Amino acid sequence: MIERELQAITNSRYNKGIAECNNKELYYALLELTKGSIQSNKKHKNGRKLYYISAEFLIGKLLSNHLINLGLFDEVNKILCKYQKKLTEIEEVEPEPSLGNGGLGRLAACFLDSIATLGLNADGIGLNYHFGLFKQEFDNNLQIETINPWIQPVSWLNKTNRTYQVVFKDFTATSILYEMDVTGYHNGSNKLRLFDIQTLDESIVKNGIIFDKEKIAKNLTLFLYPDDSDEQGLLLRIYQQYFMVSNAAQLILDECREESYDLRKLHEYVVIQINDTHPSLIIPELIRLLTAEGISIDEAIGIVSKTCAYTNHTILAEALEKWPLAYLEQVVPHLVPIINELDARVKEKYEDLSVAIIDKDNRVHMAHMDIHYGFSVNGVAALHTKILKEEELKAFYKLYPEKFNNKTNGITFRRWLLHCNQPLAQYIEQLIGDGFKTDAAKLEQLLQYKDNKEVLLSIERIKQENKAVLKDYLMETQGIEIDVNSIFDIQIKRLHEYKRQQMNALYIIYKYLEVKKGNLPKKKITMIFGAKAAPAYTIAKDIIHLLLCLQELIDHDPEVNPYLKVVMVENYNVTKASKLIPACDISEQISLASKEASGTGNMKFMLNGAVTLGTEDGANVEIHQLVQDDNIYIFGKKSEEVIEHYRKADYVSRVYYEEDALIHELVEFILSRDMLLIGEKRNLVRLYNELINKDWFMTLLDIKDYIKTKDQMLEDYMDRQSFNRKALINIAKAGYFSSDRTIQQYNEDIWRL
Ligand SMILES: *Cc1c(COP(=O)(O)O)cnc(C)c1O
Repeated sequence: MIERELQAITNSRYNKGIAECNNKELYYALLELTKGSIQSNKKHKNGRKLYYISAEFLIGKLLSNHLINLGLFDEVNKILCKYQKKLTEIEEVEPEPSLGNGGLGRLAACFLDSIATLGLNADGIGLNYHFGLFKQEFDNNLQIETINPWIQPVSWLNKTNRTYQVVFKDFTATSILYEMDVTGYHNGSNKLRLFDIQTLDESIVKNGIIFDKEKIAKNLTLFLYPDDSDEQGLLLRIYQQYFMVSNAAQLILDECREESYDLRKLHEYVVIQINDTHPSLIIPELIRLLTAEGISIDEAIGIVSKTCAYTNHTILAEALEKWPLAYLEQVVPHLVPIINELDARVKEKYEDLSVAIIDKDNRVHMAHMDIHYGFSVNGVAALHTKILKEEELKAFYKLYPEKFNNKTNGITFRRWLLHCNQPLAQYIEQLIGDGFKTDAAKLEQLLQYKDNKEVLLSIERIKQENKAVLKDYLMETQGIEIDVNSIFDIQIKRLHEYKRQQMNALYIIYKYLEVKKGNLPKKKITMIFGAKAAPAYTIAKDIIHLLLCLQELIDHDPEVNPYLKVVMVENYNVTKASKLIPACDISEQISLASKEASGTGNMKFMLNGAVTLGTEDGANVEIHQLVQDDNIYIFGKKSEEVIEHYRKADYVSRVYYEEDALIHELVEFILSRDMLLIGEKRNLVRLYNELINKDWFMTLLDIKDYIKTKDQMLEDYMDRQSFNRKALINIAKAGYFSSDRTIQQYNEDIWRL
């Protein structure tokens, strides 16, 4: 049936049979086939509707994802096999949209999958960035940013004829709505709705990612997170955010009108989840549009406050958005009276200026607006929510204890197990049946095999198989040769000082010096990194430089390279994550305790049988509770102690550097003769100084415990059976982190769809 359909498509498109088509032709044929199949899928339409608004949706490639969800994956695989074609090769043709930056965007994508799977009536709303975040390349051991064009004449994106006018102070933009289908696992579909500006001009981007930031009509949807280190960049961010939420608000009200809903009862029909503060302007915008309908401002504020819910994703002060009122005045003056009104009501009610929306420097605190005028505030892991209540948002928690709730993040097992690790998924099915695919908690049934030698050996063999696949991939894509008989230690995530890739780099230096001294590891270690740094984040780029220099140093040192290998994977994204995670032995989750809100990479690794080396931070805390001490490696200072250091401002990295001989030696190595021969002096010196004089995220506080714990872990790895047992227990306990569970909780506690 499917085979005949596919044959018909290749015949009409290319006048060829399946056998004669190349991978590109087959990709487009499968795209057409899949889109057709989605068309006949039922659309979730019942009950109150959720609009999940997010600046990012890091969706990854979609072909296999849809095929799995539609229940066509195995059949299509079989057909392709018959013609000696491979789906894994065909899907290489699909470009990955970079509509997200990291965890927050990937979370939004996992949520859409689970929402559709659970049959909930909900759409995602965001922007259609033509060049995404950026594409990362390495040149001379430095990160270079280029555009990541992903939109093609034929793709998953469907153009609609819905368009809106978005009024700015200096011009009126005309939008156009694009849509992508979001399929649920064996259950219908929803939509991801991405707004674009009609006047966009891709040709204004010159060398790399440079463009004229003032030509708003031409640049509005070129990039996600354009550089905001200057005033023009900041203004552009406000233009983007208002464009997103004004379109969203108009769409939401239109859909209510289409259903003849009474807008005075908006909250009965609609719930809006504000994913971090980028969409927060939807609150004043909705109030504005409702008052334009003749609803009083009092009533409009009441309606919106019952409709909007806010998710907080970070406690990093620098990441909490605060827009100068003067900038809002320049871009969207018509929102300013409403924001002033919202602020005045807060100030009248509460004396405490720390909960004001507009502060004494006339900056608008987006999160504060969300908390006062939304009905729910959630953190994304137990520890994160606790810190919000007790520290960062304590004053708000006192005002509105009933609004605060926790929703520990999750990941979709369709992508992060069924698709990315087919050998493991099949083996699990062999052991415990396929119930785990719709009820992830069933993975616990694997525990009955935790002392079964044969099963543990099979888990090891599957990992070995995945390592071989990764080896071929890295050879093909970057010409890098890795040793499948080494321990794979992986840290992949955005490059940020709080995530402490620099601490891992210091470990590399430690191991390098150990080998030089003749203290050889029992087994070769391959340390793999993948990370993009924000283009204007200097120190993050210096850390990438350090890692690339260490990679080169070790590659060229025959004394060390039999024991140690460093690999920096270029342009880390969802596609690369899916190849790396199934091959991993050691999952590096080493953020400074209290700084990683949740992490979701940690969950993906656990699900694929890697053992976590981590701090008591974010969801690591919950992983630790689930797998218990024997099956995770925890090190470093706890969040209370870290928070206390910040409170007292008593952490001085220089003291650690001066008083500990080992730490001194590791840090000094950054400026050693060998390193300066390979790297750029300016970058290495800057990073060295940062570590000694500032080290805001306390690398030197935890480095010794990190080294000790990691060496213990490498030692324990040598007892293969015992380490495989840890892997199995991690897989078995990963069910809690299914985003199906997370979404069920959102729906029960917040959305009530
Ligand atoms: C899961 C994921 C992330 C988030 O990783 P963390 O380790 O939780 O920061 C970032 N980027 C991509 C491509 C991912 O798949």
